[in-house]
Amino acid sequence: MFLKLRYFIIFKAIMVKISFLGSCREIGRSGILVESKSGAQCILDYGIGFNGEDRLPHKAHINNLKAIALTHSHIDHSGGLPFLYKTETVPFFTNSISLAIAEVLIRDMIKISNYPYPFGYRELDYLRQNSYFLKNKTRQRIEDDFYITFMDAGHIPGSVSILLEVDNKKILYTGDINTQTTNLINPANPTEIPEIDALIMESTYALRKHPPREQLEIEFVEKITNIIDNGGTVLIPAFGVARSQEALLILEKYNFKGKIFIDGLARKISTIYLDFPDFIRNIKLFRRAIRKAQFVSTRKIRHNAKQSNGVIISPSGMLKGGAALDYIPSILTDTTSAVYLVGYQVEGSPGRALIDNGFFEFKELKRNRNKSVDLHIEALCDYKYFDFSSHSDNENIHSYIQKLNFERKSNKDIFCIHGDNKSTTSLASELTSKNYNSVAPETGEVYHI
Ligand SMILES: [Zn+2]
Ligand SMILES: [Zn+2]
Repeated sequence: MFLKLRYFIIFKAIMVKISFLGSCREIGRSGILVESKSGAQCILDYGIGFNGEDRLPHKAHINNLKAIALTHSHIDHSGGLPFLYKTETVPFFTNSISLAIAEVLIRDMIKISNYPYPFGYRELDYLRQNSYFLKNKTRQRIEDDFYITFMDAGHIPGSVSILLEVDNKKILYTGDINTQTTNLINPANPTEIPEIDALIMESTYALRKHPPREQLEIEFVEKITNIIDNGGTVLIPAFGVARSQEALLILEKYNFKGKIFIDGLARKISTIYLDFPDFIRNIKLFRRAIRKAQFVSTRKIRHNAKQSNGVIISPSGMLKGGAALDYIPSILTDTTSAVYLVGYQVEGSPGRALIDNGFFEFKELKRNRNKSVDLHIEALCDYKYFDFSSHSDNENIHSYIQKLNFERKSNKDIFCIHGDNKSTTSLASELTSKNYNSVAPETGEVYHI
């Protein structure tokens, strides 16, 4: 059984220590510190939070750091990494596509944020200079009796789960995980994971049930085709990383014939995906889709896109900013057009309010008043949320865990993180009732296994 630090004195020297630095009963600032019995340390992910004053993971006593490893490029996992390179020069293990995209996202984050992050472009350069690319399923030594192995996580291109082997204990950290096949990448496969002693499991959608994927894709394409056939325009606000490209691939797969425009960050990320074909499930389909789409690279093309009878894919996914805001007034007030959201809409976001109330509100005050935005628009167009998730739902999580093999002598320890309070604690109690030894750690808690 794992032991919390405060109950623990005698056996400390022979156990592996896991400190949860963030993403505990919340989503954001992911960070886990693992320490071997000889004191060698490894950090898994180091992301940023989105709210409040504490945007970086919880402070830990880092005195013998040997490596840092990243599961994927989303900034809730990668955004704080440059902070570590203010003082450290340890190897940073990742893969080529995750580094390329994390750099774009972190640069963007530093540039546009009002929050004063305690690092800048220089530390981001140090991060890159210390990076090493790991192939999946290749065991990498960190120290004696301390190894990491990357495994497919199925979440976004380049995403991995990390298998740690420390002092004869095997611990799997899922990172963000998807066990359903998407058009962009292959799913996570639990049968590829060797026997483990403990699991650190993401719980984002532990309380949800996703609709059947194929049916959802067909409905999505049918609705879009209808709008286009009737002379309207469809805005798909989508996250620039992965979701924009997934929406594009769905349209290509079902042979959508209309015009498609891609705007904002989705353009840059799509170009990076073309540069790393090995990380894309069907690169031919993706290349064909990109060839047919038009990148919105000038004001004139954006103007044309607005006038066009076509589909516009543009961040931000929750309509909190980005190029999508430029399109939204004309689309919302046109009864023949539509806004189809394809990603999760967090409570309080403009996208969520649109779906719940049919009303769009957005306010952003800029120093230059001419650039301030203040929008209050009733939606006259069609609007709908399509649940194209890249996280496993309740059923997927349970079947993933069921397919994992725990060492016979182990206590089947499962730590539920990366989800709100209800999702993480409910999943932990569901697993406890299935005879796993499960808990939803709180920020800063330390366990020994
Ligand atoms: Zn993610
Ligand atoms: Zn995440």
